[in-house]
Amino acid sequence: MIERIKKLREHFASAEVEALYITNPENRFYLSGFTGTAGSLLLCRDNNYLFTDFRYTGQAVQECPGYLIIEASGENAKFLLEYLAENRVTCLGLEGDNLTYNQFQTLREQLGGVALKSVSGLVEELRARKDKGEIALIEEAVRLADEAFKDVLPQLRPGVPEREVALMLEFSMRRRGAEGAAFKTIVASGPRSALPHGVASAKIMAPGDFVTLDFGAVYNGYHSDITRTVVLGRPAQKQREIYEIVLEAQMSAIESLRAGIKALDVDSAARGIIARAGYGEQFGHSTGHGVGLCIHEKPRLSARDQVLLEEGMVVTVEPGIYLPGWGGVRIEDTVLVQNGGCRVLTRSPKEKLLSLI
Ligand code: ZN
Ligand code: ZN
Repeated sequence: MIERIKKLREHFASAEVEALYITNPENRFYLSGFTGTAGSLLLCRDNNYLFTDFRYTGQAVQECPGYLIIEASGENAKFLLEYLAENRVTCLGLEGDNLTYNQFQTLREQLGGVALKSVSGLVEELRARKDKGEIALIEEAVRLADEAFKDVLPQLRPGVPEREVALMLEFSMRRRGAEGAAFKTIVASGPRSALPHGVASAKIMAPGDFVTLDFGAVYNGYHSDITRTVVLGRPAQKQREIYEIVLEAQMSAIESLRAGIKALDVDSAARGIIARAGYGEQFGHSTGHGVGLCIHEKPRLSARDQVLLEEGMVVTVEPGIYLPGWGGVRIEDTVLVQNGGCRVLTRSPKEKLLSLI
């Protein structure tokens, strides 16, 4: 944590702030290790403060060495004045993307003499590159999702409602040690598989259905994200065809992934193949996203994102083709960007369309 704060402090000058007030929960956890659900951080040049209420002060003392723990709560921001004055802070950085309008108004009114400046994205930028410990936690979250997929595959058959499949996936991940599901589990069968975000419904799965399962686990705050598409029964020719195109697109994006490549080049590696096969219009989302303390974080692998990928970034690669009224396919892995290549963390099979009979 101290190393992370040190890195963050190096950005104070270019951000033109003398201290940072952190209110985003993931950033708070990233910089302090605090697992409580209420609290904020004040990072000055020489001192780190963690403000939280009565419920969490004892826990914070244990979890956050390097921080002075101060009991403070409520809508009032006056408690900050004392520490800002003590550290001679005249310009305070805020997370504008995270504060509500009312919270900002309160800070502005109560911190009268201190200039406030939004520095949104500063911590998120650091979070994009994962350290060894973070990568190990993501690998465990990926493993839990892989195991859940293996557990649930034999239960996938016609007559079972999508929601029951979602429940089985989540049960398996939690029983194996996950804190919870990374997001609302997607189980989209038959024509519903054409919905890129078809959260599991009451629909009963039918013979011949494509089933898209998109889910992930949370482990010590870190997320995994996987999608597999299977077919219930013998696949039709067109189902095979569409699956092959998406798989080729996904593999080609993975092949292109390495430190130093632009995000948009990874996107176009996948998009080019889908477009050449005549389905460009049916792939309407970006190829992937960073994953870590949030399920969606920096970087984005979109058609417009110029960002250069760096070693230690963890991203998903998840192209898809969606044909309304018929169905769709998406294949998604969680991948670690490395120098000269990448490492696919997801291990669930995808090489051939799994037909479950
Ligand atoms: Zn996903
Ligand atoms: Zn995803």
